[in-house]
Parts: sequence; C-alpha cells; structure tokens
Amino acid sequence: MNKPPFKLNAEHVALDFVNTLDDRYTPGGPRELLPSYADLLRFCRQAGLLAHAESARLGAFPHASQEKGLRSAIELRELLARVFYRWVEGRSPSAEDRTALERWAAACAARRELRWKDGHLAWTWRALTGEAEAPALLLAQRALDLLIGDEPPRLHVCASDTCRWLFLDTSKNRTRRWCDMKTCGNRAKARRYSAAHQN
Ligand SMILES: [Zn+2]
Repeated sequence: MNKPPFKLNAEHVALDFVNTLDDRYTPGGPRELLPSYADLLRFCRQAGLLAHAESARLGAFPHASQEKGLRSAIELRELLARVFYRWVEGRSPSAEDRTALERWAAACAARRELRWKDGHLAWTWRALTGEAEAPALLLAQRALDLLIGDEPPRLHVCASDTCRWLFLDTSKNRTRRWCDMKTCGNRAKARRYSAAHQN
C-alpha cells in the first residue's frame, strides 16, 4: 500500500524533518511518521535531498546498516527539535546540544570537498551514497545552513496548541500564524465562528 506523501509546508527541509514527529505536544501523541529507513528515504526523495537512484542505492543496504542510519537520523531530528523550539523562544541551545551540533558539523565537513562548478567553488559530497548515514548527514548540513546563515531564521510554531509544527515565516508582512491555512488555520476560524454564534 502506498503511504500518503509528507506534508512539506515548513518552507525549509530541516523544519519539515522535525515535523515528522507529528503531534509532538498533543496529549495523545506523538505520532512517528518515520518508522523505518524506507520512510526516511521517501522523505528525503520528496524533499528533493536525494535523487531516485541515490535513494535506491541506500535502500539496498543490509538491514543492520539501515537501522543504524535511521537511529542516527532520529537522534539528529530530536536534537534539532530541542534547538529549534528553544530558538523560537529566543533561547540558546544547551551546551550539550551545541556540542552535538559541532559534532554534526565536523561529520559533514569530513565528507565534503570543494569542486569548481559553473565558474565558482562549491561544496560537494564525497561518495555520499556509500553509507547509510547519508540522509542524516544531508539533513544535518541543511539544518546547520539554516541556523548559522547570514540572517537568523524567522522560526515560528503553528499557533494551534495541538499542532505546534515548525515553519519559517517567509510572508511579506511577517504575519503567518499557521503551519497550514487549510487545516490549522481553518479549524481556528471555525472555532471562532462557533464561539461567536453561541447563545
Ligand atoms: Zn498547524
């Protein structure tokens, strides 16, 4: 059976990734959207991080390697969740989490090399599909790019208490409140409507 596609509406892949532990703050939650390495690969493909052929190569790794690759990605995701949710409140990551980010940065740096491409130098990955940790490394690099960019990211959480998905506010007047206007935004509108029309 084909699984439904991921909802990628955070405007940044690292945030979409953190949102794959759904209902993180809901009493009945959380709900794991990445229960297997195959799901992780599916996420990376849909998010444009991995080409189909790359994902197929990674998907052919032995089960034990896949499990390790998945564990590593989930560990990264929960590290990023702690960092991002504190960031939203204007708080620094804990010293422990900063060290963990440094470790990811070093791991990514060890696997990248400079190549001349289209008239300028660019970082490229070396033999990326040679290890099952590739999805975690790709995601770590994107998260680091976001956190340590020229401008601090405009990180927000969805205003729905039961959702709290992360997203970047890329709207012109910086007024985005919901992860998705069609779901969370509409639910809030409906609630306001019924509250106003009671009595
Ligand atoms: Zn939401």
